[in-house]
Amino acid sequence: MDIQSIGIVGAGQMGNGIAHVMALAGYDVMVTDISQDALDRGMNVINGNLARQVSRDKIAQDDMDAAIARIKTTTTLTDLGQSDLIIEAATERETIKQAIFEDLLPSLKPDTILTSNTSSISITRLASRTDRPEKFMGFHFMNPVPVMQLVELIRGIATDEETFKACQAVVAKLGKTSASAEDFPAFIVNRILMPMINEAVYTLYEGVGSVQSIDSSMKLGANHPMGPLELADFIGLDTCLAIMNVLHDGLADTKYRPCPLLTKYVEAGWLGRKSKRGFYDYRGDTPVPTR
Ligand code: NAD
Repeated sequence: MDIQSIGIVGAGQMGNGIAHVMALAGYDVMVTDISQDALDRGMNVINGNLARQVSRDKIAQDDMDAAIARIKTTTTLTDLGQSDLIIEAATERETIKQAIFEDLLPSLKPDTILTSNTSSISITRLASRTDRPEKFMGFHFMNPVPVMQLVELIRGIATDEETFKACQAVVAKLGKTSASAEDFPAFIVNRILMPMINEAVYTLYEGVGSVQSIDSSMKLGANHPMGPLELADFIGLDTCLAIMNVLHDGLADTKYRPCPLLTKYVEAGWLGRKSKRGFYDYRGDTPVPTR
């Protein structure tokens, strides 16, 4: 199946990044969100990120102008119905995602492929509530989308080969690399990454190391570009906790129990960079460890 037009639901952190890379690769893009304000914010981010790529000579001004011209926005979800491929990148809540797919169904072309960028919700369960589980799969970008090379492609139990191949071709056209994952809690990247971050929090909780010594150890001792606690702050501690809960509930193994200290930070509203405080305090010029 030849994909030419992409519908994107959600203009947040991930949705605007997906629109950016799709438009730059030559796809016609239609983005929707719940308010014009959210769409305007998303378009501002896209403009800023494309302009940065121009200033660094990564792309030409003409590429930027053409990409912007390919992106349309709408607050009417059903305007996306005629897209060849829809990528849902709305808030990580199952009831929200379910309602979006339900509302989309009546306006879809028969062969429109439906996908979700969810980090943790079951693809098979989302697919089962649509009229096309064979044309439904997980299309999981990494954050920040314009920078990260990987896209995880997740087959639900019913996803057919034609759908998988069509999505694989889109990833290739973006110049990114896909990895195929089966539909089990947190897929591949987060299944491995989150327990490591959670273990780093246990290491802090048990007093084995300070924030600084844990992050330095993994940067200098394991050659990680960021320490695990610094990375947790970047991802968002609420997101880390939510994914640990999905692993714990979905796999029913105590090795995935979220560290009580992680829960405590989230309860305090110390969610990392986005709330200016997490394992580091970002309110000053340089981040200061909070433990
Ligand atoms: P975000 O909060 O930045 O953006 C979500 C957007 O969805 C918001 O603009 C919100 O207004 C919009 N939205 C909510 N309900 C909607 C509806 N009914 N219709 C249209 N738009 C709606 O969140 P995000 O970080 O961009 O995450 C989006 C998805 O991507 C989630 O499923 C998340 O799990 C996944 N994801 C996130 C990351 C990450 O690091 N942030 C990485 C990979 C995948």
